[in-house]
Amino acid sequence: MLILQKSVNRGEQSMKYIGAHVSSSGGVENAPLNASAIGAKAFALFTKNQRQWFSAPLSESSIQAFKRNCSELGFSSEQILPHDSYLINLGHPTEEGLEKSRESFLEEMRRCEQLGLTMLNFHPGSSLKEISTEECLSRIAESINIALDKTRGVCAVIENTAGQGSNVGNKFEEIAFIISRVEDKGRVGVCIDTCHAMAAGYDLKGEEGVSTMLSQFDKVVGLQYLKAMHLNDSKKGAGSHVDRHENIGLGEIGLEAFKALMQDKRLDNIPMILETPDESKWAEEINVLYSFCN
Ligand SMILES: [Zn+2]
Ligand SMILES: [Zn+2]
Repeated sequence: MLILQKSVNRGEQSMKYIGAHVSSSGGVENAPLNASAIGAKAFALFTKNQRQWFSAPLSESSIQAFKRNCSELGFSSEQILPHDSYLINLGHPTEEGLEKSRESFLEEMRRCEQLGLTMLNFHPGSSLKEISTEECLSRIAESINIALDKTRGVCAVIENTAGQGSNVGNKFEEIAFIISRVEDKGRVGVCIDTCHAMAAGYDLKGEEGVSTMLSQFDKVVGLQYLKAMHLNDSKKGAGSHVDRHENIGLGEIGLEAFKALMQDKRLDNIPMILETPDESKWAEEINVLYSFCN
């Protein structure tokens, strides 16, 4: 009962859009329903099976139901952050892998267009240790340019990585490098994943950790490019380069850092998405995070 009362009271007071990466099983139209059921004011979703290169096109009825559910439940496009397939590598070292990734990414962008969505969140890519980091980053920028050229209204939102294996994009400088080579600066942005940032070496612990990380981001990339956040605690410490999400407050980042993030007005009006491992805690985590906003 306490949870219900809190959720009735909040909305108006807070400009934070907090939610989770919910299931779209049975159709994309189910994602807004799943988000609303846990008291979310934002959500992430896969618009297709994330473990496949290509999927059947979205049906017209599914598209209409998605739009209807979003509008009835109060989700506008700035509260929704679709995530692309895990297979896509926009910096792939081989011609074949790069071509397939670019085609699949374009399909993802087009699905967003059809759904009336304005952002697509993706992991920058991986050199697979076959090309240099700089060559990989250049390929990613070129891949983004190709996709933006063929679509309208969808912003390519680059997620920072933990720097695990040969994944690029864990340093803010690498993300800035990609953005510098994207032609349409109005349709490229960044999603900071807190777990990935911690693993990459940006020690987020406490209010000071958060403020240092955000000023580094502002200096290197620019806060105007920050379009979204993934809120995850981290099982591993700063600089581990190991991507292991933990539920909020139970990992190396800790509750104080999340409180500082919720109180930072610069982070208003962007989707803040939980990808924490125990989904049964999402409703509670959303409530706790909203309680920090006031
Ligand atoms: Zn991701
Ligand atoms: Zn993430």
